[in-house]
Amino acid sequence: MVNKGLLLVLSGPSGVGKGTIQKELRRRIKDIYYSVSATTRAPRKNETEGVDYFYISKSEFEDLIRTDSVLEYTEYCGNYYGTPKKEVDKMLSLGKIVLLEIETCGALQVIEKCKEAVSVFILPPSFEELRNRLTARSTEPPEVVESRLEKAKWEIEQSVKYQYRVINDTVENAVSSIIDIINENRKSEE
Ligand code: 5GP
Repeated sequence: MVNKGLLLVLSGPSGVGKGTIQKELRRRIKDIYYSVSATTRAPRKNETEGVDYFYISKSEFEDLIRTDSVLEYTEYCGNYYGTPKKEVDKMLSLGKIVLLEIETCGALQVIEKCKEAVSVFILPPSFEELRNRLTARSTEPPEVVESRLEKAKWEIEQSVKYQYRVINDTVENAVSSIIDIINENRKSEE
């Protein structure tokens, strides 16, 4: 049996816990390739070039756009973020599960362009719970929390365009639902 590659797009509003889910999926499934995005934002402390992102200049990013080298991209909080195409294509051809953890505008581009992509939107158990999580994280001032919640409303509306919606009530539940989705969609060939 030969596994065919699977393009898995994961997104959800800020504070919903997609980073934790993504890390747990990578820990549990060995043949996941996590697509490292390119960005023009500066590295944060404890981030590593080539592991968290490829940190590039604005003009380098615009070259990627011009040469059609990104599968999708967006401008988010004044910086570009995008998925380099080459590695994704290569890993899919090797039969890997390619995981994109990206924000909603980029995910909608992938849903539109790649009909074979499997898209999953992570929902909070409730809007109040999302507010609690964002406030408890306390990495942002209250006005930033409010603007992320505003954005979250629009993002949650877009969730109907995704193939699957998974509620992150507990990480364990969310991860096992996504593993079921992967197994359902991973076609095998004789
Ligand atoms: P951060 O700056 O906090 O690392 O990321 C900000 C947002 O950009 C997050 O929602 C993250 O999922 C999203 N993001 C990261 N890489 C990409 C990408 O390649 N494309 C798109 N569209 N969004 C991305």
